Amino acid sequence: MSKTMLAAVLHGIKDLRVDERAIPELEPGKALVRVRRGGICGSDVHYFEEGRFGSFAVTAPFVLGHEVTGEVVAVADGVSQPAVGQRVVVNPSRQCGHCDYCRNGRGNLCRNVRMLGSASTKPPTNGGFSEYLLVGAEQCFPVPPQIDDGLGAMIEPFAVALHALKRVGSVVGKPVIVTGGGPIGLLTVIAARACGATTIAVSDPVAERRQMALQVGADSAFDPTEASFKDQVAALTGDGFEILFEASGAVPALKQAFEVVRRGGTIVQIGVYSAPEISLPVNQLLVRELQFVGSFRYGNVWEEAIRLVASGRVNLQPLISRVLPLKQAAEALALACAKTGVVKVQIDLT
Ligand SMILES: [Zn+2]
Ligand SMILES: [Zn+2]
Repeated sequence: MSKTMLAAVLHGIKDLRVDERAIPELEPGKALVRVRRGGICGSDVHYFEEGRFGSFAVTAPFVLGHEVTGEVVAVADGVSQPAVGQRVVVNPSRQCGHCDYCRNGRGNLCRNVRMLGSASTKPPTNGGFSEYLLVGAEQCFPVPPQIDDGLGAMIEPFAVALHALKRVGSVVGKPVIVTGGGPIGLLTVIAARACGATTIAVSDPVAERRQMALQVGADSAFDPTEASFKDQVAALTGDGFEILFEASGAVPALKQAFEVVRRGGTIVQIGVYSAPEISLPVNQLLVRELQFVGSFRYGNVWEEAIRLVASGRVNLQPLISRVLPLKQAAEALALACAKTGVVKVQIDLT
């Protein structure tokens, strides 16, 4: 085996290069994965376009990517799972397993978490747009043949959506709306349907995204910039939505959220804002007893996400718009920046 590999390294704003790097050496407790497919996430796009993602600013060149399918090519001594040769999806978030949050079932809030392809650490943690990736054995989830490489790389963003559903308990029979018809918004529609929500609406100013939302199973799609938006919501729901998933990261969407959720309803924040602070109608929380809930990455939803996709109960295939080879990684990132024409862009590393 060669000692070097190719990786898509972000050097600066809109400066992504395919560099040669050393293949990482096996460490205790870890598995070496030959990456086959990597999906481009909103966070990759933010790093690429702005050099930051929310409060995480890029401080040094690093490999992007955290939505990964691959094949295990080596495991450290004593590792029994996964096995060499197994095709796996990688949970990019490595939790320490022993802090108070990890011990109390909220590992996504781990005090010592490391996330692949993320500038949340200094220096940034390298990600999965590289031919080889060294990860903790426990981060690898074997996938059955019906989950191909493309669908495998959709499991991570689907886990984000599924976790958001778990943050509100049961949605069975409840009217919900998802604001923002980007990849995470669309996956939230699919997850909400799988979890039993009735009346699922989407709002997005872009017609193409509303169309896509209807295609993946939304019952209605609204343009939130239309003057009649609130009337349309009232016509559909009477009193407003029980639960709103804010997946756009757009300030007007969150402000409007307080107007389309019914009394006692819940707003779940999934989208990330570029603005660190915004003003909100906070008294609404009080007088209408609204819940405003954050949803960060995912807890223990990976196996469920894999089962839902493998069973055919949810179909994530329509969301994969384009697949480009690693050598065109910069082009793939630029493509993913577009708000129309594509939903999910993936990089093929085979
Ligand atoms: Zn992601
Ligand atoms: Zn921890």
